[in-house]
Amino acid sequence: MSKFTSSYTITMKDIIKEGDPILRQVIGVISLPPSEEDKEELACMMQFLKNSQDPAIAKKYGLRAGVGLSANQIGLNKRMFVVYFTDEKGKLYEYALINPKITSTSTTMVYLPQSEGCLSVDREIQGYAPRYERIKMKAYDMAGNELNLRFKGFPAVVIQHELDHLNGIMFYDRINSENPFKLPENVEIKSI
Ligand SMILES: [Zn+2]
Repeated sequence: MSKFTSSYTITMKDIIKEGDPILRQVIGVISLPPSEEDKEELACMMQFLKNSQDPAIAKKYGLRAGVGLSANQIGLNKRMFVVYFTDEKGKLYEYALINPKITSTSTTMVYLPQSEGCLSVDREIQGYAPRYERIKMKAYDMAGNELNLRFKGFPAVVIQHELDHLNGIMFYDRINSENPFKLPENVEIKSI
């Protein structure tokens, strides 16, 4: 068992920061059904996101608020991530996803005008990171059930950000290096 059990409280010292090679690796799939250890780790990661969004707990532990966390961001070489947030309509997105895979994407794209944030990045980064506006995803839940999910807009951005982590990609890799506010041409893209 790793230390990341459901009774362990993840704090910022557990979060791997940019520059560490594990954030540049393509993370391998895990065997199904997930092990007890995998499930404990996912529960621990999910609790971190909830804690990070709870003002009193976040203050107590000095947590930065996060909406997503991939396993390699706490040093685990496992293809899984968690997300926890509400969209603009108040709908809750709470997913612990194993071996996630994008099965189709829209041709239209979106970007966050205020740039994306990342728990592994402590510096201010400006620029637009283009993302697919809509994605379909196949993944497995903690019980090993296959899920077929659709995400649109902000939720799709969060999911793509986390999936990128499992492929060794940082959000700023997607920002135009010459002009960070330049958007791709010949693509229908809008701010969200
Ligand atoms: Zn990130």
